[in-house]
Amino acid sequence: MKDCLFCKIIAGEIPSSKVYEDKDFYAFLDIRPIHPGHTLIIPKKHCNDLMDFPKANESNIMEVLKKVGKAVLSATGADGFNLGMNNGKASGQEVMHAHFHIIPRFKEDKLGTWPRKKYEEGQMEEMQKRISDKV
Ligand code: AMP
Ligand code: ZN
Repeated sequence: MKDCLFCKIIAGEIPSSKVYEDKDFYAFLDIRPIHPGHTLIIPKKHCNDLMDFPKANESNIMEVLKKVGKAVLSATGADGFNLGMNNGKASGQEVMHAHFHIIPRFKEDKLGTWPRKKYEEGQMEEMQKRISDKV
């Protein structure tokens, strides 16, 4: 898509540090890593987010995430990795071409995880109903 940063990366119009490519996906290093080795995996067909992820790519994305995740673990010596995807500006999505983050993590990296809340009385049941009614 014209004016999409990641489409330009796929087309080779903007340089990237590619680590994997096949006919449907492209994987490259995030330019501002949480840890070195932080990798982004994107479908070659432009889509904004998970909701309009190409149907034809749904069945093989998992295989690519596993393959690249395994390589990142092995190459960085990380103890684990976060698989992340921001959907929508409010979530932190800056580039509107769907992408998965593979973020290597280390036992002592002190990055922690997101802060958690408690449900108010009855709120969890209400939320369960509201979401399940929409699925
Ligand atoms: P998000 O906030 O989920 O949209 O993530 C977008 C990611 O793209 C950020 O982590 C950026 O560091 C990364 N990024 C932006 N421009 C480039 C680029 N030219 N090459 C590699 N990664 C990039
Ligand atoms: Zn794009």
